[in-house]
Amino acid sequence: MMPVSIAIDGPAGAGKSTVARMVAKRLNWMYVDTGAMYRAIAFLCARSGVDPEDAQEVEAILQQHEIEFEEGSDGGLRVFVDGSDVTDHLRDPDVSSLVSAVAAHGAVRDRLTEWQRAFAKRYSVVMDGRDIGTVVLPNAAVKVFLTAQPEERARRRQSEFLQQGFHVPLDEIVQSVIERDRRDSEREIAPLRQAEDAVRIDSTNKTVEQIVDQILQLVAAHVR
Ligand code: C5P
Repeated sequence: MMPVSIAIDGPAGAGKSTVARMVAKRLNWMYVDTGAMYRAIAFLCARSGVDPEDAQEVEAILQQHEIEFEEGSDGGLRVFVDGSDVTDHLRDPDVSSLVSAVAAHGAVRDRLTEWQRAFAKRYSVVMDGRDIGTVVLPNAAVKVFLTAQPEERARRRQSEFLQQGFHVPLDEIVQSVIERDRRDSEREIAPLRQAEDAVRIDSTNKTVEQIVDQILQLVAAHVR
């Protein structure tokens, strides 16, 4: 059977990764977290003291280091930089604050888009990000644009941080989530926006199971 793709895009903290991972598990497809790929490069910039706004420096970082992805036992991606597993550092606040600047560079996006398309060519995937339905996989069988109100998104991020042992005040997270969405939506290349043929789902008052079921119904209707 030809590989099939599901694209899930939306702003930060809308619940994309939780939902995408569960949908992938239910279908026994691969989950591809494209945010983790951008975060790997932001992590390298943070570690090397590279200015994330400087396209040339960021491109040099891409050339100098080896970044690899593997499917982890929890169904998510494990990210390796120069052979060591950095997955647990990718959601640190300093990486999150750099990532939108890194993701605005054409050279970074070209490289990652190529990897993402290569995954989708080999495997049936549930891929989440910002530009999957619009740019990376415009022919995805099902496209979802998952949103939620900013306070709700910030609360989710706050509990993720708490699980990792950071206490970050809610208003600070609301500000950083809004700022990241603004940068992701206003950039020139592959900005965050809903694809015309995407189904919009607002996750604010829904459970994860409800959203997963809704997406599985879309898959049942569109994939045969
Ligand atoms: O999804 P996550 O919050 O991990 O994404 C981190 C950042 O990576 C986003 O804020 C965005 O700047 C960038 N990104 C992107 N395109 C994607 C996925 C993520 O620009 N497809």
